[in-house]
Amino acid sequence: MTAIWRRYLLVGVLVAAGCVLLPLGFGREFVYCLIGASGAVAIMVGVRRYRPNHPVAWYLIAAGTAVGGLGDALNSWYQHVVLIEPFLSPAIVLHFGAYPLLAVGLLVLVRSRGSEHGPAALLDSAILTVGLGLLSWVFLIEPTWTADSGPMFARLVGVAYPLGDVLVFAMFVRLAMAVGTWNTASRLVAGSFGALLAADSVFAASALVPAITDHTYLADPGWLVSYVLMGAAALHPSMRELSAPAPERVEAMTATRWAALAAAVMIAPAILAVELIAGVPLQAAAVVIASTLLMPLLLTRMIRIIRQLKDQAQRLGQLADTDYVTGLASRQHFADRLGELLRDAHGQVAGFLLIDLERFSEINDTLGHPAGDAILHAVGVRLSELTGARALVARMGSDTFGVLDPSITSGEVADRAAVRIRRALERPLQLPDLSVSVEVCVGALVLPDDGADPVLALRRANVALSVARARAGRTARYGTEMESGDTLGPLLIGELREALEHGDVVVHFQPQVQIGSGRVFGVEALVRWQHPRHGLLGPDTFIPAAEQMGLIGPLTQYVLDSALSQCAHWRREGLDLTVAVNLSVRNLLDPGLVEAVRSALQRHGLEAGALELEITEGSAMVDPRRSIQALGALAALGVTLSIDDYGTGYSSLAYLQRLPVRRLKIDRSFVTSLVDDPANAAIVHSTIELARVLRLDVVAEGVEDDATLLMLQDMQCFAAQGFGLGRPVAAPLLPELVRHIEERLPGVLGTPELDHGDDQMDVVRRQ
Ligand code: C2E
Ligand code: MG
Ligand code: MG
Repeated sequence: MTAIWRRYLLVGVLVAAGCVLLPLGFGREFVYCLIGASGAVAIMVGVRRYRPNHPVAWYLIAAGTAVGGLGDALNSWYQHVVLIEPFLSPAIVLHFGAYPLLAVGLLVLVRSRGSEHGPAALLDSAILTVGLGLLSWVFLIEPTWTADSGPMFARLVGVAYPLGDVLVFAMFVRLAMAVGTWNTASRLVAGSFGALLAADSVFAASALVPAITDHTYLADPGWLVSYVLMGAAALHPSMRELSAPAPERVEAMTATRWAALAAAVMIAPAILAVELIAGVPLQAAAVVIASTLLMPLLLTRMIRIIRQLKDQAQRLGQLADTDYVTGLASRQHFADRLGELLRDAHGQVAGFLLIDLERFSEINDTLGHPAGDAILHAVGVRLSELTGARALVARMGSDTFGVLDPSITSGEVADRAAVRIRRALERPLQLPDLSVSVEVCVGALVLPDDGADPVLALRRANVALSVARARAGRTARYGTEMESGDTLGPLLIGELREALEHGDVVVHFQPQVQIGSGRVFGVEALVRWQHPRHGLLGPDTFIPAAEQMGLIGPLTQYVLDSALSQCAHWRREGLDLTVAVNLSVRNLLDPGLVEAVRSALQRHGLEAGALELEITEGSAMVDPRRSIQALGALAALGVTLSIDDYGTGYSSLAYLQRLPVRRLKIDRSFVTSLVDDPANAAIVHSTIELARVLRLDVVAEGVEDDATLLMLQDMQCFAAQGFGLGRPVAAPLLPELVRHIEERLPGVLGTPELDHGDDQMDVVRRQ
């Protein structure tokens, strides 16, 4: 259905067209009057319908429209029926009443939008009004006033029209200049005033131009259309916006506004040029007065524009310096400050901490990005609270934060700050509808000693961070031993591929003991790199980088082959052990994993039960659907699956139970301090109890002494692994270690002596 404003506009314009075609006389004036009244009624209907703020503005406009329409009709009546000269008709006074009503109505609309869009809009309106005023003066007001003919009243009337128009125009421009008011309703209002202006100009000109003196009715279509357009404007829903509070937006200089201002400024010289070319007397006085008014207005406007541009530049600078998710400093700003500190503040010491949230992408994937952003924001807030007012806190990357703190003046202070920050950040974060904990690693540097230029400082902070990741305490302060001359990470990774080919990567084995029997039933394969220059490197120094560089696939394949080949060898020699191999996240997502495991078992002639694969909770959570598929296929092969480092992730036993795993390896952070820490003892105990119900075996990692082992025995834990039983050793040393453990444990655990038999002792002797 056509909108009401459209229907009114269409019918109104058609009736107006019909009206002007009617012969002069009562009938015509009646229809004329009706159209004027319909405009006023339409405005009242619009007000009732859309209930705008400050309806009084519209009431005034409605009154202006009604009065104008009535004035027109009466004027015409006097002119055509009573035969009074148009400029002398008393109805004309009524007609003029329309202008102040319309102008005040518009003023109320302008004011109802609020004052914040003030000065610039006001200046622009003033400039445009002066321009139009000058035009009216030169072409209408001045010629009418100076024309000799006619009585004073008629001359006053002739002048009053253009003055009324300029007044209404000024108010309308003021409204149109306000932010966000250029909509359909204001376009219709603009059309209405345009028609009014045109009609008034024709009417005023009729006093000057003999050809149209007797045809003042030519102005009628303009007036009629003006009333109809005003009515249609009030019937359009967007009329509400004209008196709604202005949105808080920066006033933008649009091309239209520039063009309008330029046109207003050009009016004075254009008039002079036209008059010069036409050879008529120059109206210098009017042009000079208008220009004198325009100059300060323009100057003030220019100053505002320059100020606005400066403000914008400053705001852009602030935006570039700020991270929009956390409101902290941006990486760029941080780098700039780091540069200033190292370049200009000679000798000033400051701590540089690089803080990384672990497994943040898992949180993001699980909880969604809005929650991820909220977490980052909360971390930023907490970090700012933790560091002093003099510290600069920045978001350096997706889940990495940087702190530059001048109150950190020594390595010890940096260490303490790193630990304090890590602990504080790992306390649960309260978000509006959830509480989450994050794991945090902190790398620390003391500047300028640990990095004399920003690039070096940043790189070394990253080195410290990657070392921190590998440490139990998850904090590390940079030390040159972390790299021997060059950066260790990239260099090593470049060599890792070769190392795999040359056999420099070796696998050590750590025994796993069944507590009930005191028997070593299996070993865990732990990779090491026998580096020609750096010595024996632990997995933590190269596994994270290998994962990132896409080398984890070949590395795992290498460990799997070595472990299975060793296992097969031991079995041939009579040492019946299972072997556990660690998988990383990427292995689990590798579609070729299951086939690789199956063919490796086949190659070494081992049944699947000989192999155990360890995955961490987190890795199973990265892509649960694919992980469950891969784990299902591996379990179907007959491989034993276990959850490594249990207790350090976010997953619940309820979730893990859905995976086809057989074992939980409780992380050593709970086990090592079992004897002295009742909380950890309770955690381990309840985990063992729960696992029993879920039919999962529990292996306790990090058993460093017999007291812990005995406690685990009391808790009926299935198996133990740790330095207190046996450290990881090279394959040739393992049989001897197994023998040693199995000889020692019965005395500790009170279990019967194990009978190794001659065969196995032979093996041990031969190794
Ligand atoms: P993990 O799988 O939890 O392995 C146990 C780690 O704890 C080993 O460290 C082991 O030496 C250490 N450990 C064992 N008993 C004790 C103890 O009583 N006290 C203490 N403080 N530590 C003990 P390692 O060999 O440095 O390996 C660290 C981690 O590197 C492993 O943790 C595993 O996640 C990863 N890893 C090792 N080999 C491989 C591999 O071939 N592939 C993959 N993807 N990861 C591996
Ligand atoms: Mg493991
Ligand atoms: Mg572990």
